[in-house]
Amino acid sequence: MEQRVAFVTGASRGIGRAIAMRLARDGRHVVLVSRSEGPLGDVRSAIVEAGGSASVKAVDVGDGAALARVIDETASELGRVDILVNNAGITRDGLVLRMSDEQWDEVIRVNLTSAFVAIRAAARHMMRGKFGRIVNISSTSGVVGNAGQANYAAAKSGLIGLTKSIARELGSKGITANVIAPGFVETDMTDKLPEAARQAFLDSLPVKRGGKPEDIAAAVAYVTADDAGYLTGQTICVDGGMTMC
Ligand code: NAP
Repeated sequence: MEQRVAFVTGASRGIGRAIAMRLARDGRHVVLVSRSEGPLGDVRSAIVEAGGSASVKAVDVGDGAALARVIDETASELGRVDILVNNAGITRDGLVLRMSDEQWDEVIRVNLTSAFVAIRAAARHMMRGKFGRIVNISSTSGVVGNAGQANYAAAKSGLIGLTKSIARELGSKGITANVIAPGFVETDMTDKLPEAARQAFLDSLPVKRGGKPEDIAAAVAYVTADDAGYLTGQTICVDGGMTMC
């Protein structure tokens, strides 16, 4: 069988980087996507040094036309797109009474609309290969809500409805779609939390520690495996037991 191609957004750092490294270790060719060419190049070098293969596509996922173009380009260069991981995400937190239209729109565009656009573009190529694995990286905020994150929680919750719908639409074509919802993972996104609040929160978790990007990558590897074809439409909370969703 030819090498499977995995398109991973937000691969320049944090969770996306760990997903890319893991999928490459599992033998996939990984297309690394974010806005920053330099950091993506560093991830590619790390993958190649470890014996894997990867390529770089710098694009703003908030620009739907550019994102769809890059997916089509990948399919024509590599002949296939088998796995899509919609991981790129941002927060623009604020209480709802003070949240601006811009804060709302930007978070919905980057976290949710980009996933819809990428799925629409990638599914055409997956259908041709009669195989596909789509993973949307949501958040426990999208499952249980979070004060100060109405925009982010709406986007992440939207990913769950989007995933269930496409799982129903595309299941007969050999394409699965699942959500991974991380809890608290130690990355740039979460490093602003004051130490005392952070520790108190971690102590409240059954596993008594923060998540590592590799914890999320392991779940992505599981749902994108060739033999995971009977698992679809699911939301898996990888959160140290925080929600038990
Ligand atoms: P991070 O360290 O801030 O990394 C975010 C990634 O998204 C970067 O690679 C960034 O790349 C990319 N990105 C952001 N805006 C983009 C855009 N407009 N176009 C293309 N790429 C863009 O975040 P993280 O913690 O790894 O989070 C990854 C995902 O997990 C996100 O969807 C996040 O919501 C979700 N999540 C994280 C946690 C957590 O505790 N960390 C919890 C739940 C869910 P560039 O800046 O290079 O473009």
